[in-house]
Amino acid sequence: MTVLRAGSATDVGRTRSVNQDSVLTAPNLFVVADGMGGHAGGEVASSTAIAALDQAQDRVGSDEQLIEAIRVANEAVYRASVENSSLAGMGTTVVAACLVSKNGADVLTIANVGDSRGYLLHDGVLTQITRDHSLAAEMVRNGDISEEEAATHPQRHVITRALGIEGTVEVDVFSVVLAEGDRVLLCSDGLTNEVDTEELTRALGAGDDPHAVATDLVRRANANGGQDNITAVVIDTVLADEPVPEPTQAHRVVTTATAAVGPDRPAGAATTAATGPAVVVPDESWIARRRRLGVPRLLTFRVVLFALLVAGVLWGAWAFLKWYATSSYFVTSQGNAIVVYKGRPGGVLWFKPELVTVSSTPVSGVLPSRRTVLSQDVVEPSLAAANQYIANLAAEFQQAQAPQPSAPPTTAPPKVTTTTTGASGATPIAPSTTVTVPAG
Ligand code: MN
Repeated sequence: MTVLRAGSATDVGRTRSVNQDSVLTAPNLFVVADGMGGHAGGEVASSTAIAALDQAQDRVGSDEQLIEAIRVANEAVYRASVENSSLAGMGTTVVAACLVSKNGADVLTIANVGDSRGYLLHDGVLTQITRDHSLAAEMVRNGDISEEEAATHPQRHVITRALGIEGTVEVDVFSVVLAEGDRVLLCSDGLTNEVDTEELTRALGAGDDPHAVATDLVRRANANGGQDNITAVVIDTVLADEPVPEPTQAHRVVTTATAAVGPDRPAGAATTAATGPAVVVPDESWIARRRRLGVPRLLTFRVVLFALLVAGVLWGAWAFLKWYATSSYFVTSQGNAIVVYKGRPGGVLWFKPELVTVSSTPVSGVLPSRRTVLSQDVVEPSLAAANQYIANLAAEFQQAQAPQPSAPPTTAPPKVTTTTTGASGATPIAPSTTVTVPAG
């Protein structure tokens, strides 16, 4: 006859305002559930699962019955999330342990969904029994990252299985053959994220009272940060021939109806995954698992392509608008000044015209008939064209102001000076002379 003593502790932690973890320590069923979901979702999910399992505590004599109880709990959480829109999407992890009889021996069956864990402390060695259903843990199992990298991986909190997400759930189960003195820990990730394996081993090996040990574990998680809700259930293995303490709230005594575990039981504790269809170790990627869980993919190739296309069209429209709004110039009058603006008269949307130059030609320097035109805006294709337009107005005005060229000019004829080039004083060129050089 195997006898278990259990104690538990749960705490909101140091940063969360609500404890979304729930815990059950029934005579032969121990459960930790870590709820998640907005508003009250997380609390409701974990407490709904725990309530459903509490109902089933007398019917968990085999692996199949424990799995069935967890499936019923899943349906209860799922139904609540479907029926109440404010609870939509809520979910909860679960790790549960109960004694079952196998081939006449008592073994502890541990079942899990999500990243709440079951550990065994045997002869001072701590072994993790369960396998997390989280992205980081699956990456470790696939060899993509190391255990150390997983501890700080940004997606270590993303779980790939939970109760309440869909109508059915896969449950992993593990069988632990217990030896006297063995200690089992069930906990939420709020404990294991704060307390490393070494400290966990030390704390679990330190005290006799499982309730005190559970409380000490929670205290350590808080001392190390307390970033999440923290829950620990510590289950001790004692045999029936040992004195059993009085049951209290903290010490729960469990007696199974099956035969005692004999001394011929394999030395030490063996942990084996239970056989049969219950053990599901699907060899699938986390993407496939997310799909199966119904987690919608946010980024597909088509979504990316569509986004790029929309961005391209928007950019093109913006570029054209900017070109249209700023490519031309216009000339206009402001008071007595003639100015040139870059842009379109009145602006285009948020592209306002910019003052480029104030001409040296004032409004009074152009013909009155042109002033009316100038009070409107005269659009020119370039700055040079705009300046030329003003120059033309000024020239036109000056021409009008200048004395009429048709008036007779001064009567005096222009004095014409002619320069003659010639050889009036030039020396006649002498005829060439022949120089005779006397010979000899
Ligand atoms: Mn948690």
